[in-house]
Amino acid sequence: MLHPKIANLSATRHILKTFNLRASKRLGQNFLIDSAVVDGIVEAAEISEGDNVLEIGPGIGTLTQGLLEAGANVTAVELDKKLPAVLAQTLEGYENFKLVQGDILKVDLEELMPQNFKVVANLPYYITTQILLTLMERKLPVTKIVTMVQKEVAERMIAAPNSKAYGAMTVAVQFRADVRIAFDVPPESFIPRPEVTSSVVVCDIRETPFKVDETFFTKVVRAAFGQRRKTLLNSLIGAGFQREAVTKALEVAGIEPARRAETLTLEEFSRLAISF
Ligand code: SAM
Repeated sequence: MLHPKIANLSATRHILKTFNLRASKRLGQNFLIDSAVVDGIVEAAEISEGDNVLEIGPGIGTLTQGLLEAGANVTAVELDKKLPAVLAQTLEGYENFKLVQGDILKVDLEELMPQNFKVVANLPYYITTQILLTLMERKLPVTKIVTMVQKEVAERMIAAPNSKAYGAMTVAVQFRADVRIAFDVPPESFIPRPEVTSSVVVCDIRETPFKVDETFFTKVVRAAFGQRRKTLLNSLIGAGFQREAVTKALEVAGIEPARRAETLTLEEFSRLAISF
């Protein structure tokens, strides 16, 4: 079957009109209309024939089509109840496509994706951070995450210590992945146009080099960044840690209690977490 390309303005408008759809702001719907961007995402995800891909929010199937054409087995989770009927037509004839209607934050990913898989998505911006942290913090067999996010979020993901963008989200992501921005995407590549520039970010998931309990590490990092302007000592106490325990841990880790969370490297956070 010959599939007409969805990733352009006229095809997208035609599909929206045919199904009487209007992009939902509440669901973060900004549909891609730029085939070069779809190709760029597929390339950044290094898709080869037979790769298992989880797509979050397939929309009308624009990016999905690019992934399927590259030979991926795509499992897509879409919250909008109106879209399964649309996808049944726009992606008709692709055999390696499976759709789950539901909320990505609620589906049982362990059951849905039992084998090694990549995540590829043009994320709904209202829950980007929550989705990324869920994917990172759960023990899932994810090897790579390639996502479109707001440029500002991308900058937080790749930030270095002592910068304004460096925070709990930076540490959570960099703890588990090598992160880079593949390319930026202007508002004109979508309808409706978002108000901000977007970026495609590539996270290569790897074993963390630090021997530390991940749950406790996350707790310490969140507590440390809880009150950004306070010292590390006060932030940790403010988050419920005992003063003596914090003082001792900081001393064992060789970290000045008066420092602020945003000055700590990943290695220092790990040292701190194992010093409790
Ligand atoms: N992939 C399409 C594209 O690139 O044109 C659509 C991307 S659009 C930015 C985000 C998609 O995520 C929408 O289709 C929206 O309905 C869906 N979505 C929003 N919240 C979701 C959730 N909690 N779980 C799954 N999908 C969600």
